[in-house]
Amino acid sequence: MANKRDYYEILELQKNASKDEIKNTYRKLALKYHPDRNKSPGAEEKFKEISEAYAVLSDDEKRKKYDTYGHVGSEDVFRGSEANFEEIFRDMGFGGFAKTIFEQMFGGGRGAGGFEGSTNPFSGFGFNIGGNRRKGRDILYDMELSLEDVVRGKKDEIELPKFESCNDCGGTGAAHGTKPRTCNTCNGQGQTRRVYNQNRFSTFISLEPCQTCNGKGQMIDKPCTSCLGSGKIKQNKKLKINIPSGVEDGMTLQLTGEGEYSEQGPPGDLLIRLYVLPHNLFERLEDGHVLYNLNLDYPSLVLGTEIKVPTLHGYEKLKIPGGTQANTILKIKGKGLPRYGTYGKGDQLVRILVKIPNNLTEKQKLLLKELNKEFSRYE
Ligand SMILES: [Zn+2]
Ligand SMILES: [Zn+2]
Repeated sequence: MANKRDYYEILELQKNASKDEIKNTYRKLALKYHPDRNKSPGAEEKFKEISEAYAVLSDDEKRKKYDTYGHVGSEDVFRGSEANFEEIFRDMGFGGFAKTIFEQMFGGGRGAGGFEGSTNPFSGFGFNIGGNRRKGRDILYDMELSLEDVVRGKKDEIELPKFESCNDCGGTGAAHGTKPRTCNTCNGQGQTRRVYNQNRFSTFISLEPCQTCNGKGQMIDKPCTSCLGSGKIKQNKKLKINIPSGVEDGMTLQLTGEGEYSEQGPPGDLLIRLYVLPHNLFERLEDGHVLYNLNLDYPSLVLGTEIKVPTLHGYEKLKIPGGTQANTILKIKGKGLPRYGTYGKGDQLVRILVKIPNNLTEKQKLLLKELNKEFSRYE
């Protein structure tokens, strides 16, 4: 850990920085290096570095420890930190993405301890202490969006077939009027302990799920008829979804706790994967800009004109100056897409193309020939 940079240095702060200063600086830097916005190499590393520094410095106890001892060992600094990343990212417009991003970067759940109180501090050791807290399964849901949805954001109601706690037995699995009883084998612990004495010096204790009750700690004598004793029931659940404006194709929105129910722990999450469909008029460019191809006839380009052009926000007047060349790009300011996670909108870029007619009338042909003759006189 000797080569680790100083947390204050990373956040460009003085040693006596106040909590607000720490928060503001982190917010500023996170906005700059957030992997959703900054695709440059090294940005992700930087984002990890500042997030780690923030997890420590925003937590009084961790900060005090750091001030006294500096970097210590391989402690998971996110675990139990008071840092509220979720809130910060939401303020910045990154929605419920915080946890996903951290999980992707730090790898499956590790390091994400700051986000949910339910993270089992003993997970990863092969067995659980304090009951089997297993999170329900995540549900993946694909959603298609038009560019118009991206402009305004989308409110939708979706129907998810998923397991919920059974209403008839309150999730216990026991028939009406009865209760599950404590398992005699494990005394309700759900685990049995086996002690192996390997030799005089080492004892190996193994914790195994109780065979009698399948690790539940409880036995059901008369199962509930609705859920057949499982305590859960599959039903269609309606859910209101709010997609923020400016989202991009391929993003995943996370709704914590809206996934599959679990009897042994918190429910899973609902992951909504967003697909932005191609538009028949507009092409999405970077930074919220959109491109529109405008076909104009030759005389309009030569003489100049003013026409109405469709945008994602309705029609807009566009002035075409006389002598405009093909492939010129004109700009209609602020008529692009909202920029995700920050303020402002992109522009609509209008690419000028020349319309070449191929079914001319005799009179048009004659006039063009006349015109051509007239042009050659001045060459
Ligand atoms: Zn048992
Ligand atoms: Zn039931």
